[in-house]
Amino acid sequence: MKNILVDEKDHPYSGTKYAWVRARALGGKTNIWGRLALRLSDYDFKAKTHDGYGDDWPISYADIEPYYDKVDRYLGISGVKENLPHLPDSLFQRPNKLSFGEVRLRESLKKMGRVLTPYRAGVTTDGLKHNKYRSKCYGRGACDRRPGGCDIHAAFDSPTGLIYPAMDTGHLTIRTNSIAHEVLVDPNTGKARGVGFVDSGTRKSYEAKGKVVIVAASTLESARLLLLSRSPQHPNGIGNSSGHVGHNFCEHVMGPGVTGLVKDMIGKPPTLDDGRPGGFYIPRFRNLKDRQPGFVRGYGFEGSGGFSIFPGNAFGTQGFGAQFKKDVRDHAGAFIGLGGFGEVLARYENYMDLDPEEKDAWGIPVLRFHYQFGDNEKKMCEDMAVAGREMLEQAGIEVVGTDDKMLTEGWSIHELGTARMGSDPKTSVLNQFQQSHDVKNLFVVDGSSHVSASCQNPTWTIMALAWRSCEYLAGEFKKGNL
Ligand SMILES: Cc1cc2nc3c(=O)[nH]c(=O)nc-3n(C[C@H](O)[C@H](O)[C@H](O)COP(=O)(O)OP(=O)(O)OC[C@H]3O[C@@H](n4cnc5c(N)ncnc54)[C@H](O)[C@@H]3O)c2cc1C
Ligand code: SF4
Repeated sequence: MKNILVDEKDHPYSGTKYAWVRARALGGKTNIWGRLALRLSDYDFKAKTHDGYGDDWPISYADIEPYYDKVDRYLGISGVKENLPHLPDSLFQRPNKLSFGEVRLRESLKKMGRVLTPYRAGVTTDGLKHNKYRSKCYGRGACDRRPGGCDIHAAFDSPTGLIYPAMDTGHLTIRTNSIAHEVLVDPNTGKARGVGFVDSGTRKSYEAKGKVVIVAASTLESARLLLLSRSPQHPNGIGNSSGHVGHNFCEHVMGPGVTGLVKDMIGKPPTLDDGRPGGFYIPRFRNLKDRQPGFVRGYGFEGSGGFSIFPGNAFGTQGFGAQFKKDVRDHAGAFIGLGGFGEVLARYENYMDLDPEEKDAWGIPVLRFHYQFGDNEKKMCEDMAVAGREMLEQAGIEVVGTDDKMLTEGWSIHELGTARMGSDPKTSVLNQFQQSHDVKNLFVVDGSSHVSASCQNPTWTIMALAWRSCEYLAGEFKKGNL
């Protein structure tokens, strides 16, 4: 983990408070991600049409569905079909089993018209014949205690899932320890001609030349790179004639959650409940057919219950000696917990720009944050805590703890929206193929392009959109349009 996450002394940032988790490593944050792999739906892509807030995406679910399918087949995903219009099903491999308490909650939620589904994990549970770097999941236990990822790579990570297979084609060169600080511009055409970068070790400067430049440094770093790329042709930063680069930032808000005790499980013999990549997911149920008085959009819950190799309840159990051990063992498998992830609304006034003074360890200007949660997020979080309690109580599960505080901005590590796509070049940075409106041989294929955050985790959508954009790019390239 230490070698994956950045040292903030070398990589500072400034402005409003923000928990910015960054991985400067081959494969980025996918080396340590939680693997919850969800699709967005037209409740997300056409959110403005649904509730009037913000902007619709320039695509609909039908446009991206074939690419979600390709990602599912290529990388593997486990789960159960639920036929929900707001959380479309994937092409699932074998699902994880739910624990006793989770099944109880699922059955109870059905009566409330809500769904608890096994964790939709970006993990291959049946194996992938086309990938020699990844094994199928053997459910060996303590999945969430493997910082740095699943060592047999059943869980998707970019190196074994994408990068090594791409290298095997012989058409890819990787240069690690390279810090891009500028997209270079041809002064005659204004088009991108390559990237300026510095070697993080030797500090020597280099240029990489290219007919097309594809930026995918993660949402905030990509915005920083565009803003850093100022030239006479692009005085506000490349691709930024709209002034929207760095703006419309959105993400997920988290914090509220509940812990419950499934009393029937106290004193029961242990079962292997953490031999799986995740517990469960409760999809959004607010503002679908109903209209909540306090907030628009929705939230989902991630959670799990049952035994784990290390009983987390040991920390909170009173006493010592033999009685303490018995109490911990008796209760170890009886807990169930869930925490909410809610949509943060995209707002122009939530933005990042370059700090005019502060620089990182390589002398590159850092990002300055101007961002905070608004009233919609606060009201949504109040509802999360209440709804979480209500669901456990309805299932006859005793609530033993409630968190109602919002965590700091950035905590969800699902940053999105700093170079959003749209049909109007005056109010968006990219077109529906993540191609710059201003510079046609410049693409930005990460979460920057998302128009709204949805409440579903973004990584599967980032990859499906990137696949779609790359197909378009290849077509345009062949036609000589770039
Ligand atoms: C603990 C954790 C749990 C998560 N759980 C989930 C989950 O359950 N589900 C989900 O959907 N998402 C989850 N995420 C988020 C997920 O990891 C990200 O959505 C995903 O990794 C984004 O991919 P990316 O390529 O855009 O960015 P990153 O993964 O951050 O990769 C960016 C890459 O760009 C490189 N880079 C950055 N700046 C420069 C530069 N200037 N020059 C050269 N290279 C540069 C970095 O070294 C890195 O390799 C989680 C993240 C974390 C950290
Ligand atoms: S349980 Fe987790 S760590 Fe173990 S093989 Fe499956 S994905 Fe990998």
